[in-house]
Amino acid sequence: MADQQENTDVLVIGGGTAGFGAAVAAGRQGLRVVLLEATSKVGGVMAFCPGMPWGGGYPVDRIIGGLMEELTTRLMALDPPAAEKRPCTLENFGPEILYDHDIATLTMFEMLEEAGVQTRLNTTAIAPQMNRTRIEAVTCFDRNGPFTIRPRIVIDCSGDGDISAKAGVPYTLGDAGGNMMAVTISFHMVGVDWDQAFAGTDPYFRGYAAKGVAEGRLHPDLAKLYLMKAFHEGSVFCNSVHVRGVDGTDPGAVGAATQEGRRQCHQLARFLRDEVPGFEGAHMSMLSPTVGVRETRKLEGVYRVTGADLARGTKFPDGIVACDNPVDDVMRADASMTHDAVIEAGSYYTIPFRSLIPAGVSNLMFAGRILSADDVAFASVRGMPQCMAMGQATGTAAGLALAEDCSVQEINLVRLVTALRQQGVNRI
Ligand SMILES: Cc1cc2nc3c(=O)[nH]c(=O)nc-3n(C[C@H](O)[C@H](O)[C@H](O)COP(=O)(O)OP(=O)(O)OC[C@H]3O[C@@H](n4cnc5c(N)ncnc54)[C@H](O)[C@@H]3O)c2cc1C
Repeated sequence: MADQQENTDVLVIGGGTAGFGAAVAAGRQGLRVVLLEATSKVGGVMAFCPGMPWGGGYPVDRIIGGLMEELTTRLMALDPPAAEKRPCTLENFGPEILYDHDIATLTMFEMLEEAGVQTRLNTTAIAPQMNRTRIEAVTCFDRNGPFTIRPRIVIDCSGDGDISAKAGVPYTLGDAGGNMMAVTISFHMVGVDWDQAFAGTDPYFRGYAAKGVAEGRLHPDLAKLYLMKAFHEGSVFCNSVHVRGVDGTDPGAVGAATQEGRRQCHQLARFLRDEVPGFEGAHMSMLSPTVGVRETRKLEGVYRVTGADLARGTKFPDGIVACDNPVDDVMRADASMTHDAVIEAGSYYTIPFRSLIPAGVSNLMFAGRILSADDVAFASVRGMPQCMAMGQATGTAAGLALAEDCSVQEINLVRLVTALRQQGVNRI
């Protein structure tokens, strides 16, 4: 088969929250944008764990702004509203945004269409073709076979950074010991009596969990049950089943964890029905199609954000968005989970644009959970609203680089920050 060649201004790899932000921001500048998504839906982790709240949407209780605010406002304006701001029940988290998953993903698709983005689902970027320090082309694959896209700028929003790694960007996996956070399968229980179910004072339902574990009815890692009121009345989001020691870049390991996680979810759903008041008449719904992967590669950027930067409340001159999320660490080396505050209440830090660009590739940026960060900083910055803002920053930066005909390392950071401010992204 002859190799098909296509040209575009911007190629965004991955349609998660970061890729959505990047593609819409680039498309709104009149650029030709192709967004590749390997699965059949936009959202990334948001689609793999449907109904997961947008955490970190209100740094120091002010809306994060930009595309996340626009999306939320659109959903809230629907009749009936499809999103709502609520306090988070977990310690050290600020308010979060709950939303109807299906309406939200449809709205995201519409925003991509309105921005003129060519979104190609079920299409995977396979490998970059390099010309010295530049990505000349990217080999892609869909059901018709391989084809080639020749972009002027590539934005890797794939979560795992396969293309960046193949382009020679150095990276580490997980923390200093190579441990990656656990992967998770979520589900909803529908038809729950909220008043009864949430009558207790422990947000983690530890008493019930201990009973289930002691009786061999729940996996020993289920010492805390993360059960939250979902967007719709009577619906409970169960974000509890974690599988440890999985390398999210290994498709075989991801498949095996998905099966194991689903088994544990069914066990948990049965336990909730049998043991926890309010769940008696409920049934399981919206089981994850695949595990949600929190952490894989950490690419090396021009700047690497550290936990110390966050603790100092650093506001970088090229800071693109504010964040005050706690260090949300889920079962890296062992079964422990923390939500330790990263910064004193009322303070915040910003995420620098330089953590989204590599030193050695002139037309590549990356955004979302593959940013350049140490393990502590990563555990705080990785919320979906921040990932979307990182994407928005790179999509905006693509416009500046193409207008100035410069490399991504030469982008005028003052202009970038000004443009983001004009787009309403909250740097506070
Ligand atoms: C279980 C779990 C619970 C979480 N809880 C919360 C929470 O409550 N609130 C919150 O705000 N955040 C939460 N997070 C964090 C947040 O969901 C993620 O950090 C964020 O969604 C990452 O977005 P992303 O766009 O960077 O990557 P992803 O969402 O991982 O998206 C990457 C996309 O790229 C696609 N892709 C990968 N490789 C290729 C390729 N080669 N070609 C084409 N497409 C490709 C993938 O299919 C995927 O759709 C949670 C994460 C997990 C896993």
